[in-house]
Amino acid sequence: MVAAPGGGKGTQGARLAAKYGIQHISSGEVLRAEVRAGTPLGREVAAYQRRGDLVPDQIVFDLLTPVVSAAAAHGGYILDGFPRTLPQAITAADVGRRLDLTLDAAVYLNVPEAVLLQRLQARARADDTAEVIRHRLTVFAETTSPLIDYYRDRGILVEVNGDQPPESIAADIQARLP
Ligand code: ADP
Repeated sequence: MVAAPGGGKGTQGARLAAKYGIQHISSGEVLRAEVRAGTPLGREVAAYQRRGDLVPDQIVFDLLTPVVSAAAAHGGYILDGFPRTLPQAITAADVGRRLDLTLDAAVYLNVPEAVLLQRLQARARADDTAEVIRHRLTVFAETTSPLIDYYRDRGILVEVNGDQPPESIAADIQARLP
C-alpha cells in the first residue's frame, strides 16, 4: 500500500488483511516496536522518526525482512509503508525474486493534501506536530511518490480515491484487486 502520511494505509491495510485472513505489516509500526523495545537500534530509529525523516534502508530491511518472510510463509501479507523509496522497491523486487514471492498489486490511496493535513492534525502521534507533518508530506512528494509511476509501469498499480468513507475505499480496493 502506497499513500502519503495520513492517507489511510493503516486503516485499509488492517481491513484488507482481515478480509483475506493474511497478516498486516506496517513498516512504521515495526520500526516503532523497535523504539519501544529500547534497543540501541531503536534509539537510532527514533531519531529519524521524530524528525519525519526516512529511516536508512539498511535498518528498514534488517527489521522488516524477517517479519515479511515469516508472513509470506503463512499465506501472504499486506505491507503498508514499504517500499517508500525507489531503491527500496528495486531491492525488494530482487529479494522477492530470490524468495519466489510475487507482488500482486500496489494499492495507491490518493488523497488531497488538505485532507491529509486535517487527518494528521487530528491524530496525536509523536511525529504529528505541524512542522514534522510538513516535512513528512515533502518527503512523500519528493521520494515516495515516484513509486506510483514505477508500479503503474509494471501494470500492478491499483489507484483508488482515498477521500471517501473507509467502507467505500475498502469496497473500491476489493473490486479492483486481481
Ligand atoms: P506515515 O505514513 O503516517 O508517515 P508510518 O507509520 O508509515 O506513518 O511511518 C512513520 C515513520 O516511520 C516515517 O516517517 C519514517 O521515519 C519511518 N518509516 C516507515 N516506513 C519506512 C520505510 N519503508 N523506509 C524508511 N522509513 C520508514
